[in-house]
Amino acid sequence: MGQTIEITCPKCQKTFVANPHMIGSGMNFHCPFCDTYFAEKESPKIRK
Ligand SMILES: [Zn+2]
Repeated sequence: MGQTIEITCPKCQKTFVANPHMIGSGMNFHCPFCDTYFAEKESPKIRK
């Protein structure tokens, strides 16, 4: 029932939440900790 996913930043390795609609959309995720934009496939871990 979760409306968010947890995604790990490939640069700083911190985890933050994102909208599950981001998955498969081709949009880049934005890390709020190190201000990095990265693609879904670049993340070392995504917990859906
Ligand atoms: Zn980061």
